[in-house]
Amino acid sequence: VLPGLFEAGSLVRFGSSSVPQWSGFPLADRLSQRLDLPVLTENDATAAVIGEALYGTGRGLSDFVYIHVGTGVGGGMFLDGQPYRGSGKAGEIGHLVTEPDGRLCPCGNRGCLERYASLGSALACLAESDDPAALGQALADGDPRLAAWLDEAAAHLRRAVIALENILDPQTVILGGTGPELLLDELAARLADLPRGLGDRPSRQRPRVVRATAGLDTPALGAASLPVFEGMAPSFALLAKVPRAGPARLRVA
Ligand SMILES: [Zn+2]
Repeated sequence: VLPGLFEAGSLVRFGSSSVPQWSGFPLADRLSQRLDLPVLTENDATAAVIGEALYGTGRGLSDFVYIHVGTGVGGGMFLDGQPYRGSGKAGEIGHLVTEPDGRLCPCGNRGCLERYASLGSALACLAESDDPAALGQALADGDPRLAAWLDEAAAHLRRAVIALENILDPQTVILGGTGPELLLDELAARLADLPRGLGDRPSRQRPRVVRATAGLDTPALGAASLPVFEGMAPSFALLAKVPRAGPARLRVA
């Protein structure tokens, strides 16, 4: 499990969290050769979705969106009881455009969510450190620059949440990440009062946005579950013997 997108077991470069040196490297094949074992590869955010579904706030839910605030903004979707990968790389929530003609993003577009709501953008507003621990200190100190970032990040996340609700109608949106827990709590609190939209209905059983609870180990928990999840989770595609084009492939050495 690594940040970045996989295509047939190799990393594909896209966005600020990609590791350029690994681009195109046949990771799954090489590891499988060295280990003499089958190897599954997965994007860390998709693994976190599985971790959250099995061990966190997503337990018992069939449809949710997970937004991961880290160096960039990642995420994933759990739909009809399955992680959803689209044609292979779905879930790049951080590249939803929330500011037309906004800040330039390494993906080549402008105004992507992660240019405003990632920990990288929070550190950039402090302009004095690239150590995430600085965020916790700035929060404790009541640093007005971080307060301004929280308001701006929340405004962009609100646009993203409403777009996701309107398209996917999830039971809830789960907000997690690798930043200080208190910072993520502050961000979630600013999303409590969302504008009207498809997600705003009287029959709701859960808040529209909730905090992730599986903790920093969420991607690792999801990764450890991958072999069982891939083999055991019921899927119409498996029953119908439709070949899957997803990034995770079981390779038998
Ligand atoms: Zn982008």
